[in-house]
Amino acid sequence: MAVSEFTQHDYDVIARDFADLKEAARKRCANQEELDVVQKAFDFANEAHKGVRRRSGEPYILHPIAVAKIVVSNIGLGYKSIAAALLHDVVEDTDYTVDDIRNLFGEKIASLVDGLTKIKTVLDNEDKAKQKSIQAENFKRILLTLNDDIRVVLIKLADRLHNCRTIEFMPEYKRDKILSETMFIFIPLAHRLGLYEVKSEMEDIWLRYKEPEAFNEITEKINRNITDKEKEIDEFIKPIKEALDRAGFSFEIKKRVKTPYSIWNKIVTKGVTFEQIYDLYAVRIIFDPKPETTETERDQCYHVFSIITGIYKYKSDRVRDWVKHPKNNGYEALHCTVMSHSGIWIEVQIRTKRMNDIAEKGIAAHWAYKKDGFIENDESEMDKWINKVKEIIVNPDVNALELLDIIHNDLTASEIFVFTPKGDQKRIEKGATALDFAYLIHTEIGNKAIAAKVNMKLVPLSYRLKTGDQVEIITAETEKPKREWLQFLKTRKARNEVIDYLKDERQDSIKVGKKMIEEQLAAIGMKLNDSTLQQLLDGYEIFEGKDELYFRVGIGVLKLNNLDQVIHRTAEKNKSWNFPWFRQKNKKEPRFVINDSSDKSHKYVIASCCNPIPGDSVVGFMSDDGTITVHKKTCDVANGIAAKHGDRIVMPQWEHDSQQSFLVRLSLKGFDRLGLINEISRYISFVLSVNMKGIYLNTDNGVFDGYIDLYVHDRDDLEKLIRKLTKTEGIQSVVRTDL
Ligand code: MN
Repeated sequence: MAVSEFTQHDYDVIARDFADLKEAARKRCANQEELDVVQKAFDFANEAHKGVRRRSGEPYILHPIAVAKIVVSNIGLGYKSIAAALLHDVVEDTDYTVDDIRNLFGEKIASLVDGLTKIKTVLDNEDKAKQKSIQAENFKRILLTLNDDIRVVLIKLADRLHNCRTIEFMPEYKRDKILSETMFIFIPLAHRLGLYEVKSEMEDIWLRYKEPEAFNEITEKINRNITDKEKEIDEFIKPIKEALDRAGFSFEIKKRVKTPYSIWNKIVTKGVTFEQIYDLYAVRIIFDPKPETTETERDQCYHVFSIITGIYKYKSDRVRDWVKHPKNNGYEALHCTVMSHSGIWIEVQIRTKRMNDIAEKGIAAHWAYKKDGFIENDESEMDKWINKVKEIIVNPDVNALELLDIIHNDLTASEIFVFTPKGDQKRIEKGATALDFAYLIHTEIGNKAIAAKVNMKLVPLSYRLKTGDQVEIITAETEKPKREWLQFLKTRKARNEVIDYLKDERQDSIKVGKKMIEEQLAAIGMKLNDSTLQQLLDGYEIFEGKDELYFRVGIGVLKLNNLDQVIHRTAEKNKSWNFPWFRQKNKKEPRFVINDSSDKSHKYVIASCCNPIPGDSVVGFMSDDGTITVHKKTCDVANGIAAKHGDRIVMPQWEHDSQQSFLVRLSLKGFDRLGLINEISRYISFVLSVNMKGIYLNTDNGVFDGYIDLYVHDRDDLEKLIRKLTKTEGIQSVVRTDL
């Protein structure tokens, strides 16, 4: 880190930023003593980082000040956390130790700082072979602090947010690593803890650097739309304001536009265009509940709802009642989508002041209200989740990399609501089956399940539940868990219960698994021997030995359908292996240059999860044998790899003169007319001379939607094609989506 004398300007900026922080802290501190601790932490950190600058050239201390500001303003934490945020990089970057902090600031602040200090070990070769990851170890360390104090995680999120804000000063590969970690784990975590402001700012920064063109285009469209629609929205609000005034509410109305990231996400996942997003605008009504009535806070939300829907027509399938059933991150509000008199759909969000604080600041606000007696149920969904995470992280069988995956999956899974036969509501992971539900109710019910009734109708145990389903499990005393169940069980809890049960039959499963592997290998002309066994262990990343491999195959957790690829991939490393079918598959390779160097010794593979084409922003991962797999920067899989194995990131550049073609998918929507499909495919093949792989269109009552898979040279090519198709009569939207 660069050390240089500070100028008068530097000192002025430091003084100004700290004054700003102190002002925010003053409102949050209970008394002068607390504020003095903040001052003392600043003085200490300021001295410790003196003369040191960040990459941006700014004095280093501006970073801890900014983190402390987020901690107090966006998350709402108190003076100990503010002090810890100011001190969070002192131990890592200077000669001071946690003991020094303890002597000066006491046990609590010292333990927060300790939790925030990164592990600084370098991985040795053995760790690499075992696929350990320093990123995962660091993250595990943070999660372990959930055990004593969740504030460490909250301050870490503030630190991460500020590092994202200043990411432009990082080299590209580092930027990608930081943004990927942010998307893989910090954003889901912020969401889970209800930190809406932190989460959405991180998402927008992620998009801005991962997919700058899309970010700029969407931002421009938002701005143009706001100017266009400003008057209409004001006209829309006017009658609501008057009616609420008449009803005697004290309230505030805020105008909201969807964030660029959430718009982008909708475009790529739903295959719609910007213009087709109907809930672009939201109006938020934040009111103070009237104390003098017998109406509860909730009743008053419904009262406001009835006032609004008395003025505007609402979309009945778009009413969301998170007042009665708060989201699992604590979010409470009543949402509805209504039609303005000028003909646009506008979402209206109804919240009390308390609900709004929790919606924006999350867990800290939740606890503050709980302490003040506003919230009665003492085990919220959030507390339950924290307890669940605690159970996972203290499990010694789970290594840091697995932990990262488990937490990621847990954080990003969405939930549905189902009912027991008695009408009790239960939350369960989306995609869960009737059997998952059985295990949710009780292990014994799961173990003895034989079938289920959903909404009074008999269904198999593998039936996928939908929101609102009423589920009854039929059991039989003689039943026991079956290996096949693992093929469809979704939830971790249920899977673990079955695996646990089957462990007793482990030896049988090992035999079955070994036999299955031998058969599969024989099918591709190979034998099970030390060499193929090692390839399988490496390929499937099993570090516990061959019995574990056989066992997993035997119980059906590990499927062998990509066995030939696993063997090929590892065979590539070893030149003495030579497979005729590998040669055949190995078509013309895409050409790249890495960072404009003339190094052509690497082999490149286009990732099949996201199918990037020339012109897309891409990231590559280097394997041990020098093969580089190229993904889109926004690809979920790439995010996961970069978050765990950031040291493998490389930045490939597309070559301009590539004559190769790449597969893409275009999703289409429009009005059906006679011969349209024919016309589209003829147009693409003959007029545009584009090679098509397939076309899949569904028509229903005069409208169609579907997709075309085709080969293009690059993004320019693709965009031209999209523009031309959009002009075809009957076609309403054409959007590139994932294959
Ligand atoms: Mn930091």
